[in-house]
Amino acid sequence: MKSQSSQLATRGMQAALRVRQQVGADLHSPICVYDACDKVGVQVRFAEINSMEGMYYRGTPAKIVIGARRPLARRNFTCGHELGHHVFGHGSTVDELQEATSSTAWQPDEFLVNAFSAALLMPHVGLKRAFAVRGTTPDKATPRQLFEISCNFGVGYDTLVNHLAYGTQLIGPERAKEMGRSSPKEIRKLILGRDVQEALVVVDEHWTAPTVDIEVETLALAPKHTIVEGASLRHCGSLEIGELFQAVNPGLGRLATKPNGHSRFVRVSRFQFVGLSKFRHLEEVPDDEH
Ligand SMILES: [Zn+2]
Repeated sequence: MKSQSSQLATRGMQAALRVRQQVGADLHSPICVYDACDKVGVQVRFAEINSMEGMYYRGTPAKIVIGARRPLARRNFTCGHELGHHVFGHGSTVDELQEATSSTAWQPDEFLVNAFSAALLMPHVGLKRAFAVRGTTPDKATPRQLFEISCNFGVGYDTLVNHLAYGTQLIGPERAKEMGRSSPKEIRKLILGRDVQEALVVVDEHWTAPTVDIEVETLALAPKHTIVEGASLRHCGSLEIGELFQAVNPGLGRLATKPNGHSRFVRVSRFQFVGLSKFRHLEEVPDDEH
């Protein structure tokens, strides 16, 4: 099993690098998986389905459907997973909710496309850089730093920790277990100093993704002296550790940090947006495209 899984992980990683080249992405930066699907001609739709993470429909055009109610970072990973089914020429597939499938038998194709999604969203070289620029290493990073890096790559905290341990092997299983003890809710409290129910994205000074992709209600913590342009975000307070914003309207905006001139484009989608992915940031979605 071990050698089979490591062969599959290598195949997943190689395919992810090929797709990155195909869509004109470099081999280290975070990417938007929906933009990548557009570029390879796979249509992505978010739908109100509660029974599955997503599905892949093999056809012309190929289509991916993602459960709109899942957390945003989970949707991103699922989209990469379904794109993996496409890239590897698998047949139409329904992926049930992760919780429901965790106890089922090991399936090589599912393992392969998970490895593909992880490598597509969190390339090895990019991860190593992300730790280095924050003056740390995968072995020494605090839960807060791991959370910041997971935000930057658009994945969940646990997804990052698992990939570091079982995908890239940059950390050992013991370290993964230790880091896995911190829940995202606890980390949000650690960062903001209070309990919050909303999702949080930390857009730190080392942010390298081309855009900040969030949905209405999400909180965004940016460095001190950051101001917002556009009506998609509202400033909710100056904290000692930075400026806190909340996404309030779908559309485009910009976060500009005065002292260092950093500027990040922000794309806000409706909360749990339902419809074709290409419409997710529009302020008004065409009626027939919901
Ligand atoms: Zn699958």
